[in-house]
Amino acid sequence: MAEPEGLRHAAIAWLEQRTFDRQIPLSRDEIADFEWNGQPFRLIPSQQGIWKPRGFEATLSIVTTYRSPGQKRPYEDEVGTDGLIRYKWRGDDPHHPENVGLRRAMQLRKPIIWFIGIGGKPPEYQVVAPVYLVREEPEQQQFVMAPLAEEDFAVEEFDEGFAVPALKRYLMRETKVRLHQPVFRSTVLMAYENHCAVCNLAHPELLDAAHIVDDSHEMGTPTIGNGMALCKIHHAAFDRRFLGLRPTLERPIVEIRQDLLDEVDGPMLRHGLQDLHGKPLMMLPKARANRPDHDKLVWAYDRFRTATAADVA
Ligand SMILES: [Zn+2]
Repeated sequence: MAEPEGLRHAAIAWLEQRTFDRQIPLSRDEIADFEWNGQPFRLIPSQQGIWKPRGFEATLSIVTTYRSPGQKRPYEDEVGTDGLIRYKWRGDDPHHPENVGLRRAMQLRKPIIWFIGIGGKPPEYQVVAPVYLVREEPEQQQFVMAPLAEEDFAVEEFDEGFAVPALKRYLMRETKVRLHQPVFRSTVLMAYENHCAVCNLAHPELLDAAHIVDDSHEMGTPTIGNGMALCKIHHAAFDRRFLGLRPTLERPIVEIRQDLLDEVDGPMLRHGLQDLHGKPLMMLPKARANRPDHDKLVWAYDRFRTATAADVA
């Protein structure tokens, strides 16, 4: 049986719906709910690697298993200066069936689905789809992938257009928005078990994955050590330096800026901010490797204290 017409697009549309447009990750059980013509149809390979259902010419999906910090995550340092992701061949044989399947997806311009492990028990996956293979770099034994909306995918541009700065900027932005930001959010929220680190609020809809060091700064990487799950109020308070975190060996201590402590207002100010002054963070990841990097906390605390000094002066 050849690849059924429309299945690939139906699968991507279904995943989009199930993840509320890539807002939430899915477990393998949830992914297994996908049906085609009333029958369950497997979308994810059983292990790390690629999935090419029987009869398909082209790869349908790829999966990257979760690696905790310290272990290298493949996608992280494989974004090239052109903003596109490098995906390594399986082995070094260009004719390995997995490499052939990926090459066919590229030649046929078929969108593929990328499942990126974000941890959890059972493991959950952030869905990045559609992803297109836009080139192959045989000398480096890799494919070049772009996470793009289907309507934006014009392969002609990729053949010649790599030197065009506008295209490069566009691709870097798309990679950030469609790959790095959702994976960062899901990984951080998973590590904090969907709780705000400051107040323990447990509704993912009201939570953000905050950067400890802003992502405009070179230390501001989209990695778990630079992330913290914060509710919307505490995220904004942290970014605007109303709230600081004093690094300690165990749990960082919440500090509220002096002028806010002096202010008299309603219950949000009192309970949501003032009462937290001097209290340790309520939620931290169980795995030490997933907790905030000390040097990033120090950087952010210095920034907070500078703001305090400026306001007092
Ligand atoms: Zn909070």
